[in-house]
Amino acid sequence: MPKKLKIALILLLFILLIMSGCGPRTTKPETNEGAAQEEKDKGKKDATSGASMANYTPLEELKDSYDIVIVGAGGAGMSAALEAKAAGMNPVILEKMPVAGGNTSKASSGMNASETKFQKEQGISDRNDLFYEETLKGGHNTNNKDMLRFFVDHSADAIDWLDSIGITLNNITITGGMSEKRTHRPKDGSAVGQYLVTGLLKNVQEQGIPIFVNANVKEITKQDGKANGVKVAFTQHGEKTIAAKSVVITAGGFGANMDIIAQVRPDLEGYVTTNHEGSTGDGISMIEKMGGTTVDMEEIQVHPTVQQENSYLIGEVVRGEGAILINSKGERFINEMAARDSVTAAINKLPEKKAFLVFDSGVRSRATAVEEYVKMGFVKTKDTIEALAGDIGVPADQLHKTLDTWNSAVKNKKDAEFGRKTGMDHDLSAAPYYAIRIGPGIHYTMGGVRINTNTEVLDQNGKPIPGLFAAGEVTGGLHGENRIGGNSVAEIIIFGRQAGIKSSEYVKTAK
Ligand SMILES: Cc1cc2nc3c(=O)[nH]c(=O)nc-3n(C[C@H](O)[C@H](O)[C@H](O)COP(=O)(O)OP(=O)(O)OC[C@H]3O[C@@H](n4cnc5c(N)ncnc54)[C@H](O)[C@@H]3O)c2cc1C
Repeated sequence: MPKKLKIALILLLFILLIMSGCGPRTTKPETNEGAAQEEKDKGKKDATSGASMANYTPLEELKDSYDIVIVGAGGAGMSAALEAKAAGMNPVILEKMPVAGGNTSKASSGMNASETKFQKEQGISDRNDLFYEETLKGGHNTNNKDMLRFFVDHSADAIDWLDSIGITLNNITITGGMSEKRTHRPKDGSAVGQYLVTGLLKNVQEQGIPIFVNANVKEITKQDGKANGVKVAFTQHGEKTIAAKSVVITAGGFGANMDIIAQVRPDLEGYVTTNHEGSTGDGISMIEKMGGTTVDMEEIQVHPTVQQENSYLIGEVVRGEGAILINSKGERFINEMAARDSVTAAINKLPEKKAFLVFDSGVRSRATAVEEYVKMGFVKTKDTIEALAGDIGVPADQLHKTLDTWNSAVKNKKDAEFGRKTGMDHDLSAAPYYAIRIGPGIHYTMGGVRINTNTEVLDQNGKPIPGLFAAGEVTGGLHGENRIGGNSVAEIIIFGRQAGIKSSEYVKTAK
Protein backbone atom coordinates (compact mmCIF):
# COMPACT_ATOMS: atom_id res chain seq x y z
CA MET A 1 0.00 0.00 0.00
CA PRO A 2 1.39 3.44 -0.94
CA LYS A 3 2.67 5.37 2.09
CA LYS A 4 0.26 8.34 1.53
CA LEU A 5 -2.80 6.05 1.41
CA LYS A 6 -1.60 4.29 4.57
CA ILE A 7 -1.32 7.61 6.43
CA ALA A 8 -4.77 8.71 5.20
CA LEU A 9 -6.31 5.42 6.41
CA ILE A 10 -4.66 5.73 9.84
CA LEU A 11 -5.95 9.32 10.11
CA LEU A 12 -9.47 8.26 9.14
CA LEU A 13 -9.41 5.45 11.73
CA PHE A 14 -8.19 7.89 14.38
CA ILE A 15 -11.03 10.36 13.62
CA LEU A 16 -13.60 7.55 13.72
CA LEU A 17 -12.27 6.38 17.09
CA ILE A 18 -12.50 9.88 18.56
CA MET A 19 -16.05 10.28 17.24
CA SER A 20 -17.22 6.99 18.73
CA GLY A 21 -15.71 7.91 22.13
CA CYS A 22 -17.43 11.32 22.34
CA GLY A 23 -21.18 11.05 22.44
CA PRO A 24 -22.95 14.32 21.83
CA ARG A 25 -22.99 16.63 24.88
CA THR A 26 -21.98 14.02 27.42
CA THR A 27 -19.03 12.95 29.55
CA LYS A 28 -18.30 9.51 30.92
CA PRO A 29 -17.09 8.55 34.39
CA GLU A 30 -13.43 7.59 34.15
CA THR A 31 -13.01 4.69 36.53
CA ASN A 32 -11.99 1.10 36.04
CA GLU A 33 -14.58 0.30 38.64
CA GLY A 34 -17.20 1.71 36.27
CA ALA A 35 -15.92 -0.38 33.39
CA ALA A 36 -15.85 -3.54 35.47
CA GLN A 37 -19.36 -2.88 36.64
CA GLU A 38 -20.50 -2.33 33.05
CA GLU A 39 -19.25 -5.82 32.21
CA LYS A 40 -20.97 -7.27 35.27
CA ASP A 41 -24.21 -5.50 34.49
CA LYS A 42 -24.53 -6.76 30.93
CA GLY A 43 -27.59 -8.93 30.60
CA LYS A 44 -29.30 -7.84 33.82
CA LYS A 45 -32.83 -6.55 33.43
CA ASP A 46 -33.43 -4.60 36.63
CA ALA A 47 -32.80 -0.94 37.36
CA THR A 48 -29.14 -1.54 37.91
CA SER A 49 -28.51 -2.43 34.25
CA GLY A 50 -26.15 -0.13 32.49
CA ALA A 51 -26.32 2.76 34.95
CA SER A 52 -22.58 2.61 35.40
CA MET A 53 -22.31 3.78 31.77
CA ALA A 54 -23.82 6.88 33.28
CA ASN A 55 -23.38 10.01 31.32
CA TYR A 56 -23.40 13.03 33.55
CA THR A 57 -25.01 16.26 32.46
CA PRO A 58 -22.72 18.50 30.39
CA LEU A 59 -21.91 21.87 31.89
CA GLU A 60 -23.53 23.77 28.99
CA GLU A 61 -26.88 22.63 30.35
CA LEU A 62 -26.37 24.23 33.77
CA LYS A 63 -29.08 26.78 34.57
CA ASP A 64 -28.90 29.83 36.82
CA SER A 65 -31.76 28.69 38.97
CA TYR A 66 -33.56 25.51 40.11
CA ASP A 67 -36.38 24.70 42.53
CA ILE A 68 -34.03 22.60 44.68
CA VAL A 69 -30.23 22.31 44.70
CA ILE A 70 -28.99 18.99 46.13
CA VAL A 71 -25.35 18.91 47.23
CA GLY A 72 -23.73 15.45 46.97
CA ALA A 73 -24.62 12.50 44.74
CA GLY A 74 -24.49 9.65 47.24
CA GLY A 75 -27.49 7.54 48.24
CA ALA A 76 -29.12 10.32 50.26
CA GLY A 77 -28.76 12.93 47.50
CA MET A 78 -30.09 10.72 44.71
CA SER A 79 -33.05 9.53 46.86
CA ALA A 80 -33.89 13.15 47.67
CA ALA A 81 -33.70 14.09 43.99
CA LEU A 82 -36.04 11.28 42.94
CA GLU A 83 -38.67 12.24 45.53
CA ALA A 84 -38.36 15.94 44.63
CA LYS A 85 -38.88 15.13 40.98
CA ALA A 86 -41.88 12.93 41.83
CA ALA A 87 -43.35 15.90 43.71
CA GLY A 88 -43.20 17.96 40.51
CA MET A 89 -40.01 19.87 41.30
CA ASN A 90 -37.10 20.78 39.12
CA PRO A 91 -34.08 19.59 41.18
CA VAL A 92 -30.38 19.51 40.32
CA ILE A 93 -27.60 17.42 41.88
CA LEU A 94 -24.08 18.84 42.29
CA GLU A 95 -21.26 16.38 43.01
CA LYS A 96 -17.67 17.41 43.66
CA MET A 97 -16.02 14.14 42.60
CA PRO A 98 -15.74 12.98 38.95
CA VAL A 99 -18.31 10.24 39.64
CA ALA A 100 -21.45 9.85 41.72
CA GLY A 101 -21.64 7.42 44.64
CA GLY A 102 -19.54 8.68 47.55
CA ASN A 103 -19.29 6.33 50.52
CA THR A 104 -22.55 4.77 49.37
CA SER A 105 -20.71 2.94 46.58
CA LYS A 106 -18.46 1.37 49.22
CA ALA A 107 -21.27 -0.03 51.37
CA SER A 108 -20.86 -3.74 51.62
CA SER A 109 -23.03 -5.62 54.08
CA GLY A 110 -26.53 -4.30 53.43
CA MET A 111 -29.48 -2.19 54.56
CA ASN A 112 -31.35 -2.84 57.79
CA ALA A 113 -35.14 -2.80 57.84
CA SER A 114 -37.83 -4.49 59.90
CA GLU A 115 -41.28 -5.94 59.11
CA THR A 116 -40.41 -6.02 55.39
CA LYS A 117 -42.22 -8.04 52.77
CA PHE A 118 -39.01 -9.97 52.08
CA GLN A 119 -38.60 -10.90 55.76
CA LYS A 120 -42.23 -12.09 55.80
CA GLU A 121 -41.75 -14.12 52.60
CA GLN A 122 -38.73 -15.81 54.20
CA GLY A 123 -40.44 -16.56 57.50
CA ILE A 124 -38.39 -14.04 59.51
CA SER A 125 -40.63 -12.62 62.17
CA ASP A 126 -39.42 -9.17 63.15
CA ARG A 127 -40.85 -6.10 64.86
CA ASN A 128 -40.18 -2.39 64.41
CA ASP A 129 -40.12 -2.09 68.22
CA LEU A 130 -37.37 -4.70 68.45
CA PHE A 131 -35.34 -2.93 65.75
CA TYR A 132 -35.82 0.31 67.74
CA GLU A 133 -34.73 -1.25 71.04
CA GLU A 134 -31.68 -2.98 69.59
CA THR A 135 -30.51 0.16 67.79
CA LEU A 136 -30.98 2.16 71.00
CA LYS A 137 -29.01 -0.44 72.93
CA GLY A 138 -26.26 -0.39 70.27
CA GLY A 139 -26.14 3.42 70.57
CA HIS A 140 -25.89 3.16 74.38
CA ASN A 141 -29.24 4.89 74.73
CA THR A 142 -27.86 8.14 73.28
CA ASN A 143 -29.71 8.09 69.94
CA ASN A 144 -32.16 10.85 69.05
CA LYS A 145 -35.35 8.95 69.85
CA ASP A 146 -37.67 10.87 67.50
CA MET A 147 -35.31 10.24 64.61
CA LEU A 148 -34.95 6.60 65.56
CA ARG A 149 -38.73 6.05 65.79
CA PHE A 150 -39.24 7.63 62.36
CA PHE A 151 -36.36 5.54 61.03
CA VAL A 152 -37.60 2.11 62.11
CA ASP A 153 -41.22 2.89 61.20
CA HIS A 154 -40.25 3.88 57.64
CA SER A 155 -37.66 1.18 57.01
CA ALA A 156 -39.97 -1.38 55.37
CA ASP A 157 -41.42 1.35 53.16
CA ALA A 158 -37.90 2.24 52.04
CA ILE A 159 -37.28 -1.36 50.97
CA ASP A 160 -40.60 -1.32 49.03
CA TRP A 161 -39.75 2.01 47.40
CA LEU A 162 -36.38 0.70 46.24
CA ASP A 163 -38.01 -2.45 44.93
CA SER A 164 -40.58 -0.36 43.05
CA ILE A 165 -37.78 1.43 41.17
CA GLY A 166 -35.98 -1.80 40.29
CA ILE A 167 -33.55 -2.04 43.24
CA THR A 168 -34.42 -5.30 44.93
CA LEU A 169 -32.78 -6.18 48.24
CA ASN A 170 -34.28 -9.55 49.03
CA ASN A 171 -31.32 -11.53 50.35
CA ILE A 172 -31.29 -11.09 54.11
CA THR A 173 -28.42 -11.48 56.55
CA ILE A 174 -27.55 -10.16 60.01
CA THR A 175 -25.07 -7.65 61.45
CA GLY A 176 -23.53 -7.23 64.91
CA GLY A 177 -25.82 -6.03 67.71
CA MET A 178 -28.99 -7.31 66.02
CA SER A 179 -30.91 -10.42 67.04
CA GLU A 180 -32.91 -10.86 63.82
CA LYS A 181 -31.95 -11.19 60.19
CA ARG A 182 -32.83 -7.72 58.89
CA THR A 183 -29.84 -6.71 56.75
CA HIS A 184 -31.15 -6.60 53.18
CA ARG A 185 -28.80 -7.01 50.23
CA PRO A 186 -28.99 -7.86 46.52
CA LYS A 187 -30.36 -11.25 45.53
CA ASP A 188 -26.92 -12.75 44.87
CA GLY A 189 -25.60 -11.64 48.27
CA SER A 190 -23.16 -9.18 46.69
CA ALA A 191 -22.16 -5.82 48.16
CA VAL A 192 -25.09 -3.43 48.48
CA GLY A 193 -23.34 -0.13 47.62
CA GLN A 194 -22.43 -0.46 43.95
CA TYR A 195 -25.78 -2.09 43.22
CA LEU A 196 -27.66 0.72 44.95
CA VAL A 197 -25.69 3.56 43.35
CA THR A 198 -25.99 2.05 39.89
CA GLY A 199 -29.75 1.63 40.34
CA LEU A 200 -30.34 5.10 41.79
CA LEU A 201 -28.24 6.75 39.10
CA LYS A 202 -30.18 4.98 36.39
CA ASN A 203 -33.45 6.24 37.88
CA VAL A 204 -32.06 9.78 38.22
CA GLN A 205 -31.15 9.74 34.55
CA GLU A 206 -34.43 8.22 33.44
CA GLN A 207 -36.25 10.98 35.30
CA GLY A 208 -34.18 13.59 33.48
CA ILE A 209 -32.70 14.98 36.68
CA PRO A 210 -29.51 16.92 35.85
CA ILE A 211 -26.43 15.70 37.70
CA PHE A 212 -23.20 17.68 37.42
CA VAL A 213 -19.89 16.17 38.53
CA ASN A 214 -16.62 17.98 39.33
CA ALA A 215 -18.92 20.56 40.94
CA ASN A 216 -17.50 21.51 44.33
CA VAL A 217 -20.06 23.44 46.37
CA LYS A 218 -18.28 26.01 48.53
CA GLU A 219 -21.03 27.95 50.21
CA ILE A 220 -24.78 28.09 50.82
CA THR A 221 -26.16 31.51 49.99
CA LYS A 222 -28.97 33.18 51.92
CA GLN A 223 -31.32 36.12 51.90
CA ASP A 224 -33.41 37.29 54.84
CA GLY A 225 -32.20 34.25 56.81
CA LYS A 226 -33.46 31.80 54.16
CA ALA A 227 -31.22 29.48 52.13
CA ASN A 228 -31.53 30.61 48.51
CA GLY A 229 -28.80 28.86 46.54
CA VAL A 230 -25.15 27.83 46.46
CA LYS A 231 -21.76 28.95 45.21
CA VAL A 232 -20.07 26.17 43.30
CA ALA A 233 -16.59 25.81 41.81
CA PHE A 234 -16.36 23.68 38.67
CA THR A 235 -13.01 22.02 37.99
CA GLN A 236 -11.53 24.00 35.10
CA HIS A 237 -14.65 26.16 34.68
CA GLY A 238 -14.51 28.60 37.57
CA GLU A 239 -17.10 29.57 40.13
CA LYS A 240 -20.82 30.11 39.68
CA THR A 241 -23.74 31.06 41.91
CA ILE A 242 -26.89 29.02 41.45
CA ALA A 243 -30.19 30.22 42.85
CA ALA A 244 -32.69 27.82 44.43
CA LYS A 245 -35.90 27.96 46.43
CA SER A 246 -34.50 25.30 48.73
CA VAL A 247 -31.12 23.66 49.40
CA VAL A 248 -30.63 20.02 50.43
CA ILE A 249 -27.21 19.08 51.82
CA THR A 250 -26.35 15.40 51.36
CA ALA A 251 -22.57 15.80 51.26
CA GLY A 252 -21.69 12.83 53.51
CA GLY A 253 -19.49 12.60 56.60
CA PHE A 254 -15.89 13.59 57.43
CA GLY A 255 -14.21 10.18 57.78
CA ALA A 256 -11.47 11.16 55.29
CA ASN A 257 -10.74 14.56 56.82
CA MET A 258 -7.83 13.92 59.18
CA ASP A 259 -7.75 17.58 60.27
CA ILE A 260 -11.28 17.47 61.70
CA ILE A 261 -10.64 14.01 63.16
CA ALA A 262 -7.45 15.20 64.86
CA GLN A 263 -9.43 18.08 66.39
CA VAL A 264 -12.37 16.09 67.68
CA ARG A 265 -10.61 12.76 68.38
CA PRO A 266 -6.83 13.17 68.73
CA ASP A 267 -6.60 9.55 69.90
CA LEU A 268 -7.48 8.37 66.37
CA GLU A 269 -4.48 9.98 64.70
CA GLY A 270 -2.61 7.44 62.60
CA TYR A 271 -5.63 5.18 62.03
CA VAL A 272 -6.39 4.14 58.45
CA THR A 273 -9.77 5.17 56.99
CA THR A 274 -12.20 3.14 54.90
CA ASN A 275 -13.85 6.29 53.51
CA HIS A 276 -13.74 7.67 49.96
CA GLU A 277 -11.66 10.81 49.52
CA GLY A 278 -14.68 13.11 49.14
CA SER A 279 -15.78 12.48 52.75
CA THR A 280 -14.35 15.73 53.99
CA GLY A 281 -17.20 17.22 56.02
CA ASP A 282 -17.81 20.18 53.66
CA GLY A 283 -21.55 20.03 54.30
CA ILE A 284 -21.05 20.42 58.02
CA SER A 285 -18.88 23.52 57.76
CA MET A 286 -21.19 25.13 55.17
CA ILE A 287 -24.21 24.52 57.39
CA GLU A 288 -22.41 25.84 60.48
CA LYS A 289 -21.76 29.07 58.57
CA MET A 290 -25.54 29.29 57.97
CA GLY A 291 -26.18 29.09 61.73
CA GLY A 292 -26.75 25.33 61.91
CA THR A 293 -25.49 23.32 64.88
CA THR A 294 -23.80 19.95 65.28
CA VAL A 295 -24.22 16.97 67.55
CA ASP A 296 -21.95 14.05 68.58
CA MET A 297 -18.97 15.24 66.49
CA GLU A 298 -16.52 13.24 68.61
CA GLU A 299 -18.44 10.00 68.05
CA ILE A 300 -16.43 8.34 65.31
CA GLN A 301 -16.96 4.70 64.55
CA VAL A 302 -13.88 2.61 64.23
CA HIS A 303 -14.62 -0.57 62.30
CA PRO A 304 -12.97 -3.65 63.79
CA THR A 305 -12.23 -5.50 60.55
CA VAL A 306 -10.21 -3.41 58.11
CA GLN A 307 -7.43 -4.81 55.95
CA GLN A 308 -4.70 -2.39 56.99
CA GLU A 309 -2.35 -2.20 54.00
CA ASN A 310 -5.16 -1.08 51.61
CA SER A 311 -7.54 0.44 54.24
CA TYR A 312 -10.13 -1.93 52.83
CA LEU A 313 -13.21 -2.79 54.82
CA ILE A 314 -13.89 -6.48 55.37
CA GLY A 315 -17.67 -6.41 55.67
CA GLU A 316 -19.55 -7.63 58.71
CA VAL A 317 -21.31 -10.07 56.42
CA VAL A 318 -18.27 -12.38 56.70
CA ARG A 319 -18.84 -12.75 60.45
CA GLY A 320 -22.62 -12.71 59.91
CA GLU A 321 -22.21 -15.74 57.66
CA GLY A 322 -20.12 -17.58 60.24
CA ALA A 323 -16.48 -16.39 60.41
CA ILE A 324 -14.68 -16.19 63.76
CA LEU A 325 -11.88 -13.93 64.98
CA ILE A 326 -8.68 -15.34 66.43
CA ASN A 327 -5.60 -13.80 68.05
CA SER A 328 -1.96 -14.67 67.40
CA LYS A 329 -2.26 -17.67 69.75
CA GLY A 330 -5.02 -19.13 67.56
CA GLU A 331 -7.72 -18.47 70.21
CA ARG A 332 -11.04 -16.70 69.96
CA PHE A 333 -11.19 -13.65 72.23
CA ILE A 334 -14.63 -11.99 71.77
CA ASN A 335 -18.20 -12.57 70.65
CA GLU A 336 -17.53 -11.63 67.02
CA MET A 337 -21.12 -10.45 66.57
CA ALA A 338 -21.02 -7.96 69.45
CA ALA A 339 -21.49 -4.30 68.45
CA ARG A 340 -18.56 -2.72 66.58
CA ASP A 341 -17.24 -0.70 69.48
CA SER A 342 -16.93 -3.81 71.69
CA VAL A 343 -15.16 -5.84 69.00
CA THR A 344 -12.79 -2.94 68.28
CA ALA A 345 -12.00 -2.56 71.99
CA ALA A 346 -11.23 -6.29 72.23
CA ILE A 347 -8.84 -6.14 69.25
CA ASN A 348 -7.14 -3.04 70.67
CA LYS A 349 -6.52 -4.95 73.91
CA LEU A 350 -4.51 -7.61 72.06
CA PRO A 351 -0.75 -6.90 72.28
CA GLU A 352 -0.48 -6.81 68.46
CA LYS A 353 -3.77 -4.84 68.01
CA LYS A 354 -4.52 -7.05 64.99
CA ALA A 355 -6.41 -10.32 64.55
CA PHE A 356 -7.37 -12.87 61.90
CA LEU A 357 -10.82 -13.54 60.50
CA VAL A 358 -10.99 -17.29 59.93
CA PHE A 359 -13.65 -19.00 57.81
CA ASP A 360 -14.36 -21.88 55.46
CA SER A 361 -15.64 -22.35 51.92
CA GLY A 362 -19.26 -22.27 53.16
CA VAL A 363 -18.80 -18.67 54.34
CA ARG A 364 -17.11 -17.84 51.05
CA SER A 365 -20.08 -19.14 49.06
CA ARG A 366 -22.65 -17.29 51.21
CA ALA A 367 -20.79 -13.97 51.44
CA THR A 368 -19.90 -13.20 47.85
CA ALA A 369 -18.02 -10.06 48.96
CA VAL A 370 -15.21 -12.53 49.79
CA GLU A 371 -14.54 -12.91 46.05
CA GLU A 372 -13.50 -9.27 45.97
CA TYR A 373 -11.15 -9.81 48.93
CA VAL A 374 -9.63 -12.84 47.17
CA LYS A 375 -9.10 -10.79 44.00
CA MET A 376 -7.45 -8.04 46.03
CA GLY A 377 -5.02 -10.60 47.46
CA PHE A 378 -6.12 -10.26 51.11
CA VAL A 379 -7.10 -13.88 51.68
CA LYS A 380 -4.80 -16.72 52.78
CA THR A 381 -6.18 -20.03 51.51
CA LYS A 382 -5.19 -23.56 52.54
CA ASP A 383 -6.75 -26.99 52.21
CA THR A 384 -6.22 -27.93 55.86
CA ILE A 385 -6.42 -26.16 59.20
CA GLU A 386 -2.80 -27.10 59.92
CA ALA A 387 -1.56 -25.56 56.68
CA LEU A 388 -3.56 -22.39 57.29
CA ALA A 389 -2.16 -22.12 60.82
CA GLY A 390 1.36 -22.46 59.41
CA ASP A 391 0.68 -19.79 56.80
CA ILE A 392 -0.59 -17.20 59.26
CA GLY A 393 1.85 -18.11 62.02
CA VAL A 394 -0.45 -19.38 64.76
CA PRO A 395 -0.08 -22.72 66.63
CA ALA A 396 -1.80 -25.43 64.55
CA ASP A 397 -2.99 -27.51 67.52
CA GLN A 398 -4.63 -24.47 69.09
CA LEU A 399 -6.35 -23.41 65.85
CA HIS A 400 -7.67 -26.96 65.51
CA LYS A 401 -8.95 -26.88 69.08
CA THR A 402 -10.53 -23.45 68.56
CA LEU A 403 -12.40 -24.62 65.46
CA ASP A 404 -13.51 -27.89 67.13
CA THR A 405 -14.88 -25.97 70.11
CA TRP A 406 -16.57 -23.48 67.82
CA ASN A 407 -18.14 -26.18 65.65
CA SER A 408 -19.57 -27.88 68.78
CA ALA A 409 -20.95 -24.50 69.91
CA VAL A 410 -22.67 -24.11 66.52
CA LYS A 411 -24.06 -27.64 66.72
CA ASN A 412 -25.37 -27.16 70.27
CA LYS A 413 -26.48 -23.56 69.57
CA LYS A 414 -24.52 -22.45 72.64
CA ASP A 415 -21.29 -20.47 72.68
CA ALA A 416 -20.24 -21.11 76.27
CA GLU A 417 -17.01 -19.12 75.85
CA PHE A 418 -18.28 -15.75 74.59
CA GLY A 419 -22.08 -15.97 74.38
CA ARG A 420 -22.33 -15.41 70.62
CA LYS A 421 -25.88 -16.06 69.45
CA THR A 422 -25.99 -15.02 65.80
CA GLY A 423 -24.10 -15.91 62.63
CA MET A 424 -24.17 -19.50 63.88
CA ASP A 425 -26.30 -21.18 61.21
CA HIS A 426 -23.33 -23.09 59.78
CA ASP A 427 -20.14 -24.50 61.28
CA LEU A 428 -16.65 -24.05 59.86
CA SER A 429 -15.84 -27.48 58.49
CA ALA A 430 -15.79 -27.22 54.70
CA ALA A 431 -12.26 -26.98 53.28
CA PRO A 432 -10.52 -24.99 51.99
CA TYR A 433 -9.97 -22.71 55.00
CA TYR A 434 -9.33 -19.00 54.79
CA ALA A 435 -7.85 -16.19 56.90
CA ILE A 436 -7.69 -12.42 56.51
CA ARG A 437 -5.50 -10.28 58.78
CA ILE A 438 -7.43 -7.27 60.04
CA GLY A 439 -7.27 -4.38 62.47
CA PRO A 440 -9.45 -1.38 63.33
CA GLY A 441 -9.92 1.61 60.98
CA ILE A 442 -11.91 4.88 60.97
CA HIS A 443 -15.16 4.05 59.29
CA TYR A 444 -18.12 6.26 60.04
CA THR A 445 -18.80 9.66 61.56
CA MET A 446 -21.88 9.40 63.76
CA GLY A 447 -21.87 13.14 64.44
CA GLY A 448 -23.01 15.85 62.10
CA VAL A 449 -25.57 18.59 61.72
CA ARG A 450 -28.68 18.64 63.85
CA ILE A 451 -31.94 18.04 61.97
CA ASN A 452 -35.50 17.06 62.90
CA THR A 453 -37.59 14.26 61.40
CA ASN A 454 -38.58 16.63 58.58
CA THR A 455 -34.83 16.84 57.75
CA GLU A 456 -34.95 20.57 58.45
CA VAL A 457 -31.59 21.91 59.65
CA LEU A 458 -31.91 23.32 63.16
CA ASP A 459 -30.31 26.47 64.54
CA GLN A 460 -29.01 27.05 68.06
CA ASN A 461 -32.53 27.56 69.36
CA GLY A 462 -33.69 24.30 67.81
CA LYS A 463 -35.62 26.20 65.12
CA PRO A 464 -35.51 25.18 61.43
CA ILE A 465 -33.41 27.38 59.14
CA PRO A 466 -35.88 28.18 56.34
CA GLY A 467 -35.13 26.47 53.05
CA LEU A 468 -32.25 24.36 54.40
CA PHE A 469 -32.52 20.58 54.61
CA ALA A 470 -29.95 17.81 55.23
CA ALA A 471 -29.89 14.02 55.21
CA GLY A 472 -27.48 11.11 55.42
CA GLU A 473 -24.04 10.90 56.98
CA VAL A 474 -23.73 14.71 57.06
CA THR A 475 -26.29 14.67 59.89
CA GLY A 476 -25.93 13.43 63.47
CA GLY A 477 -28.18 12.10 66.18
CA LEU A 478 -29.81 8.99 64.76
CA HIS A 479 -27.04 6.60 65.77
CA GLY A 480 -25.97 8.26 69.02
CA GLU A 481 -22.57 7.05 70.21
CA ASN A 482 -22.45 3.93 68.09
CA ARG A 483 -23.95 2.98 64.72
CA ILE A 484 -25.22 -0.51 64.04
CA GLY A 485 -23.91 -1.96 60.74
CA GLY A 486 -26.60 -1.71 58.02
CA ASN A 487 -28.34 1.28 59.61
CA SER A 488 -26.63 3.93 57.52
CA VAL A 489 -27.79 2.69 54.14
CA ALA A 490 -31.28 2.56 55.64
CA GLU A 491 -30.81 6.11 56.96
CA ILE A 492 -29.79 7.57 53.59
CA ILE A 493 -32.79 6.10 51.81
CA ILE A 494 -35.32 6.93 54.56
CA PHE A 495 -34.11 10.45 55.33
CA GLY A 496 -32.89 11.15 51.78
CA ARG A 497 -36.44 10.54 50.54
CA GLN A 498 -37.82 12.61 53.39
CA ALA A 499 -35.52 15.52 52.45
CA GLY A 500 -36.84 15.37 48.87
CA ILE A 501 -40.45 15.31 50.07
CA LYS A 502 -40.10 18.05 52.71
CA SER A 503 -37.96 20.41 50.63
CA SER A 504 -40.58 20.11 47.86
CA GLU A 505 -43.39 20.93 50.31
CA TYR A 506 -41.36 23.93 51.46
CA VAL A 507 -40.93 25.17 47.89
CA LYS A 508 -44.65 24.81 47.23
CA THR A 509 -45.70 26.70 50.34
CA ALA A 510 -42.89 29.24 50.88
CA LYS A 511 -43.61 32.80 49.90
C1 LIG B 1 -16.28 0.81 53.17
C2 LIG B 1 -17.64 1.17 53.69
C3 LIG B 1 -18.61 0.19 53.81
C4 LIG B 1 -19.88 0.50 54.32
N1 LIG B 1 -20.83 -0.47 54.41
C5 LIG B 1 -22.07 -0.15 54.87
C6 LIG B 1 -23.12 -1.13 54.90
O1 LIG B 1 -22.94 -2.25 54.45
N2 LIG B 1 -24.30 -0.75 55.41
C7 LIG B 1 -24.55 0.50 55.89
O2 LIG B 1 -25.65 0.77 56.36
N3 LIG B 1 -23.59 1.45 55.83
C8 LIG B 1 -22.38 1.16 55.32
N4 LIG B 1 -21.41 2.13 55.24
C9 LIG B 1 -21.78 3.51 55.55
C10 LIG B 1 -22.60 4.11 54.41
O3 LIG B 1 -22.16 3.58 53.18
C11 LIG B 1 -22.50 5.63 54.35
O4 LIG B 1 -22.65 6.17 55.62
C12 LIG B 1 -23.59 6.20 53.46
O5 LIG B 1 -23.58 5.56 52.21
C13 LIG B 1 -23.44 7.70 53.29
O6 LIG B 1 -24.34 8.13 52.29
P1 LIG B 1 -24.51 9.67 52.00
O7 LIG B 1 -25.39 9.78 50.82
O8 LIG B 1 -24.90 10.38 53.23
O9 LIG B 1 -23.03 10.17 51.66
P2 LIG B 1 -22.06 9.71 50.47
O10 LIG B 1 -22.51 8.45 49.85
O11 LIG B 1 -20.68 9.76 50.99
O12 LIG B 1 -22.30 10.85 49.40
C14 LIG B 1 -21.95 12.18 49.66
C15 LIG B 1 -21.47 12.80 48.37
O13 LIG B 1 -21.31 14.21 48.55
C16 LIG B 1 -20.17 14.61 47.82
N5 LIG B 1 -19.69 15.90 48.35
C17 LIG B 1 -19.00 16.13 49.50
N6 LIG B 1 -18.73 17.43 49.63
C18 LIG B 1 -19.23 18.04 48.53
C19 LIG B 1 -19.23 19.39 48.07
N7 LIG B 1 -18.64 20.38 48.75
N8 LIG B 1 -19.84 19.68 46.88
C20 LIG B 1 -20.43 18.69 46.15
N9 LIG B 1 -20.43 17.40 46.53
C21 LIG B 1 -19.86 17.08 47.71
C22 LIG B 1 -19.19 13.48 48.02
O14 LIG B 1 -18.17 13.47 47.05
C23 LIG B 1 -20.12 12.27 47.91
O15 LIG B 1 -20.20 11.77 46.61
C24 LIG B 1 -20.16 1.84 54.72
C25 LIG B 1 -19.19 2.83 54.57
C26 LIG B 1 -17.93 2.52 54.05
C27 LIG B 1 -16.91 3.60 53.91
